[in-house]
Amino acid sequence: MKIDAHVHTPFCPHGSRDRLSRYAERGIQLGFEELTFTEHAPLPETFSDPVPNKDSALPADQVEAYIKAVQEVKKEYSGEIKINLGFEVDYIEGFEKETAAFLNQYGSIIDDSILSVHFLLAGNAFHCLDFSPEGFKNLCLAAGSISAAHSLYYRTVGKSITADLGDFKPKRIGHITLVHKFQSLFPVPSAEKDLNDLDRLLDLVKEKGYELDYNTAGLRKEYCKTPYPYREAAELALKKKIPLVYGSDAHASADLGADYHNYVSLISGSPQMPESKEK
Ligand SMILES: [Zn+2]
Ligand SMILES: [Zn+2]
Repeated sequence: MKIDAHVHTPFCPHGSRDRLSRYAERGIQLGFEELTFTEHAPLPETFSDPVPNKDSALPADQVEAYIKAVQEVKKEYSGEIKINLGFEVDYIEGFEKETAAFLNQYGSIIDDSILSVHFLLAGNAFHCLDFSPEGFKNLCLAAGSISAAHSLYYRTVGKSITADLGDFKPKRIGHITLVHKFQSLFPVPSAEKDLNDLDRLLDLVKEKGYELDYNTAGLRKEYCKTPYPYREAAELALKKKIPLVYGSDAHASADLGADYHNYVSLISGSPQMPESKEK
């Protein structure tokens, strides 16, 4: 089953204006049988988005319009490509109740979803770890060091895996090594410790019967150039028999299916091919 299970839409306030039908058509053109729209679920009302434009997620008053748009495109392309209604849901420490309330409200109509960590509580403030190099630097300062920021991220992902978010909690963990996004500017302090931290997280994922988002967005990021998770971590997950589900994390239709060959080479166990320049 060829699926792109992490796709954004024009409802994302920090994405492109590409219409949902353009994503569907791009998917069909590339031979995908299935795609999941995973718009950023609204952040809890009582949570203040730490990014400058406060545009990390779908505004709460747009949820119904988003659902309607996905349901329409789903109908329009049925028989050509299976389209799932989904959300990328943020795990935010201390906001578990609010997150569970959202999931309980919409869970019965959600086909597929992802649980991601983008916000970390360091000191007494939340920081967005993937917005900008400056933001990541501030996170490292608040946490104490690059190493401490990494540990904090992995600890928080661990909490997301074990958190009680109710019956509709997503079963797929988003971009589990997102903390590597600016790795050429803020080098990973210890590759060995990183893999050890991930080893523990993967055991939790396995225990819960969850799966991983194999997210190729990192390959497109100037300071990252590796997928989330990177090759060694992805191989470790495969060794533990954790399902890896391909996701482009496209915020523009041209990125749907991006670097799918990288996923194929991982899954088929063939040696890593040089990254292609084509999009
Ligand atoms: Zn996004
Ligand atoms: Zn994300």
